[in-house]
Amino acid sequence: MTDRIEGFINSKAGKKILGAIGVATPVELKRYHSGLSSYLEGDVLLDCGDNAALLKDTLRNIKDSAAVITLGARAQAQSGEPANNGSSSPERYQALVFDASGLSDSLQLVQAYEFFNQNIRKLKSSGRIVILARPHMECGNAAQAACQRALEGLSRSLAKEVGKKGATATLITVANNAEANIDSSLRFALSAKSAYVDAQVIKVSTASNPALPDWHKPLAGRVALVTGASRGIGLAIAQTLARDGATVLGVDVGAMEAELIKAMTAINGAALVADITAEDAPAKIGDSLKELGGVDLIVHNAGVTRDKTIANMSEQQWQLTLNINLAAAQRITEALLSDGVINDGASIVGVSSMNGIAGQRGQTNYAASKAGVIGYVDFMSKDPELLKRGITVNAVAPGFIETAMTAAIPLMTRMFGRRLNSLSQGGLPIDVAETIAFFGNPASRAVNGNVVRVCGQAWFGA
Ligand code: NAD
Repeated sequence: MTDRIEGFINSKAGKKILGAIGVATPVELKRYHSGLSSYLEGDVLLDCGDNAALLKDTLRNIKDSAAVITLGARAQAQSGEPANNGSSSPERYQALVFDASGLSDSLQLVQAYEFFNQNIRKLKSSGRIVILARPHMECGNAAQAACQRALEGLSRSLAKEVGKKGATATLITVANNAEANIDSSLRFALSAKSAYVDAQVIKVSTASNPALPDWHKPLAGRVALVTGASRGIGLAIAQTLARDGATVLGVDVGAMEAELIKAMTAINGAALVADITAEDAPAKIGDSLKELGGVDLIVHNAGVTRDKTIANMSEQQWQLTLNINLAAAQRITEALLSDGVINDGASIVGVSSMNGIAGQRGQTNYAASKAGVIGYVDFMSKDPELLKRGITVNAVAPGFIETAMTAAIPLMTRMFGRRLNSLSQGGLPIDVAETIAFFGNPASRAVNGNVVRVCGQAWFGA
């Protein structure tokens, strides 16, 4: 039955009906593979508004890729570089990059309008739009703050206009004096690794940032903890971190032991059977990590749903969900911190959810736990001790990701659910994993306190 309905939805008639109600047919997204020689290939058009502060570092990064750069008139004038470092003037671009960091009042935003008005049709399928800005709350006056904040609305709306071709838009805000810290964020946003990250704002701070590692092996020599690592998103996280060079300690419950051991053996990782809510779990995890030399990346991925409307929900269903999804992760982090198992420069990542942001009927427990993950990350990312040690705390908030968890959603809800975003498709576990690997990249030390949604710009949720 499921197959027949899926078949109909993917048929010509099905697509016509979905199109009529505004649900587009998805474009296959281009994702990372090891055959890519560079984080960015193809033609890139780069321009800026007046007084662009991020042009130099943006150019430095793009020049360090296989891309061919074309500069707009303002970028030429401000950088003193020629219009094109390739042989011809391209008709289509893989990426449109606009540095709006110097714009200081609302009417100057017309410079961004001109750029996108003239060029947006030239963006390729699976292309990228990146806008560079300043955090509005760091601006010197209200007019500038309004102008810089306006760029968020622009970027999110552009994402909606290009989503049907599988293209995305990202806004990167860079704190004053943090210009040279843009590297890992700019490269992630422009690369195939961010295929399902759409309409997001990535904040770059002034924290001192180490040099960029090898793009294919950014986590070489690092140790990662992944809870819930035997299947779904957790498995993809473990595999991706190992692909990027990390040694992974995967944790999962006894019922998943065989799968966990198989998965960890395949990536030369270590397996630990533990229920993260058990009293001795933090100590067991800490002991295993000590044997590996401490931990550089902690991914609190293990999570469950126990869906019921609140009137029908038992206290056990409520408490179990809050305990696994939120409280256990906190207990483990606190224990690893106080036992000195977390290395300097480490990265802690919480896995939230779009339903934690938007709320969901029948998921009061789950949404509360996932919103709590964001609160924890917000608070911990400002902890003076962690800041001093260069430890970052961030979260991903996946939208509809194709896993066993979403396969359990009733058929029709699932069919529509996966299409209710600008890219008209569900994401893959690898999309969440790539974002976590970006947070864990040692060159992302200035990326702290971010909540990045991996949701293809879900229609629901702020
Ligand atoms: P999943 O159910 O496929 O995998 C979850 C894993 O966590 C399983 O291996 C499970 O055994 C493990 N786990 C559960 N309780 C545990 C415990 N007490 N101790 C140790 N391990 C435990 O789920 P998934 O879809 O891969 O989701 C992974 C994470 O992503 C979860 O936190 C989930 O809330 C979040 N998420 C998923 C989606 C989605 O669309 N799939 C969307 C938003 C957020």
